[in-house]
Amino acid sequence: MVQLRIIEEYAHQNKIPIMQKEGIEFLTKYIKENNIKTILEIGSAIGYSAIKMALIDKKIKITTIERDQKRYEEAIKNINDFKLNEQIKIINADALDFSTTDKYDLIFIDAAKAQYIKFFEKYKHNLKDTGTIISDNLEFHGLVKNPELTTNRNTKQLVKKIQNYIDFLKQNKEFNTEFIKLGDGIGISKKNLQKN
Ligand code: SAH
Ligand code: MG
Repeated sequence: MVQLRIIEEYAHQNKIPIMQKEGIEFLTKYIKENNIKTILEIGSAIGYSAIKMALIDKKIKITTIERDQKRYEEAIKNINDFKLNEQIKIINADALDFSTTDKYDLIFIDAAKAQYIKFFEKYKHNLKDTGTIISDNLEFHGLVKNPELTTNRNTKQLVKKIQNYIDFLKQNKEFNTEFIKLGDGIGISKKNLQKN
């Protein structure tokens, strides 16, 4: 039986950006407290966060999307080792190509940071009215707050994209977002159900 600790170590050694401890603790607590049962995850990597979420309760069902073939295969192996194949369905696709008509209690966005607005706009249609969209890595190792800490051009571009996404969430009339300074920074977006 593979242990979660082994997956965590493997991820760190291979620079696979799985959720940080504080972030995943927050996420699992949120799922418990809000009685979330159906989850769509964008960005499975090797299945770590999906496994953590599935282990909360046998009734939780997760669909998770990963575009990288190797990570997808590693995720399948890890999910099988935990005997969670009934609870976790993993799809090998680019989330911008995939589509579903299913509706979820939670949509967890944890994939390519440059595409967060696209993921949000595409998958908000798959959210139940009372559901939540959670986005990870909104602080991006502190670079969103202090962009001058990097001189790398690609990183600067990415930081700009995350800043755009934060502005998009702040200005969004359809959703209200709360920003949580835990792990690498998390956004909690809920539909604004109030009538104007
Ligand atoms: N949620 C995981 C970590 C995901 S890391 C955990 O905490 O355990 C981000 C992953 O998103 C990477 O494996 C990357 O290959 C994948 N990804 C990036 N863009 C994607 C896209 N457009 N569609 C599907 N997967 C994507
Ligand atoms: Mg992340």
